[in-house]
Amino acid sequence: MPEIEKTHCLIIGSGPAGYTAAIYASRANLKPILYQGLQPGGQLTITTEVENYPGYPDGIMGPQMMVDFEKQAQRMGTDIRWGLATKADLSKKPYRVEIDEEKWIETDALIIATGASAKWLGLESEQRLNGHGVSACAVCDGFFFKGQEVAIVGAGDTACEEALYLSKLCSTVHMLIRRGEMRASKIMQERVLKTGNIKVYWNTETREVMGESKVDSMKIWNNKTGEETIVPIKAFFVAIGHEPNSSLFKGVLEMDDQGYLVTKAGSSKTNLEGVFACGDVQDKTYRQAVTAAGSGCMAALDAERYLGALEHGN
Ligand code: NDP
Repeated sequence: MPEIEKTHCLIIGSGPAGYTAAIYASRANLKPILYQGLQPGGQLTITTEVENYPGYPDGIMGPQMMVDFEKQAQRMGTDIRWGLATKADLSKKPYRVEIDEEKWIETDALIIATGASAKWLGLESEQRLNGHGVSACAVCDGFFFKGQEVAIVGAGDTACEEALYLSKLCSTVHMLIRRGEMRASKIMQERVLKTGNIKVYWNTETREVMGESKVDSMKIWNNKTGEETIVPIKAFFVAIGHEPNSSLFKGVLEMDDQGYLVTKAGSSKTNLEGVFACGDVQDKTYRQAVTAAGSGCMAALDAERYLGALEHGN
């Protein structure tokens, strides 16, 4: 018989949404348990400087910010644990979530703050050389390619941020953009275009990442002219956005066609009573640390009201 532990409020996920939910839920005396998931601290742990989170006039490094979030949740009394939610049984109340395929947590209220994960191009060679020069995290792996030529795919703020980061380490950064314009904010575009060692390729897509046991080049093509080029590189970074970590809830919780959990307007409520969603797993529009934190606060307040009503039998 697997172990079952009971709680009133379970939070899964440890980005700005999960920790903010934890801070509010702890202060409301809900005694939440928070499981951190695969990447404690979430996506901000693989970013560099965060300049747009209010309250840090000089900016702050993403990983440090998440350490601060965690400390604050801990100080408020959240029971923070390592562990990944591996299954969910939301067919009846109290809800049950399996952790690490080992034990179950039974909870009255569930706050889902599982965030989103990096997307890949879907090339066979990209998967084969993953970890051997192919990476979705310039900040984690750029260091290994100091002084070398590297490539990055994508044209959003993440790609720009990572291209700029790489430009400080690497000799040349080949930036592949599939359209004739970038999606990134104007300021990031300007910074990229002004950086001498970032070479921008417009209307360009990847045919293949090449190399036997590690990346040595890439075959790219211009989707306007059809011209193919082979460019020698040592690393290939993918920064083409994210997908929500919602697969545990497929067929149970309402989600949109991209898998983002659907919440009722102006709240964190999902289609199941007592199940709340916050942060990037339910937000494909804003996806900022500050909006994720705000929605984590909403989820904790919604959970508090729900649990209060449950206690009073209505
Ligand atoms: P985005 O979804 O904004 O951008 C993804 C980029 O990848 C787009 O340029 C897209 O191209 C490109 N792309 C997608 N699929 C492919 C493919 N198969 N081949 C080639 N290119 C592809 O994701 P980001 O991760 O950049 O940003 C997510 C959110 O986070 C945004 O709201 C962003 O503003 C925010 N952010 C803010 C930061 C900051 O303020 N400091 C830092 C980082 C992110 P196309 O444009 O053609 O669709």
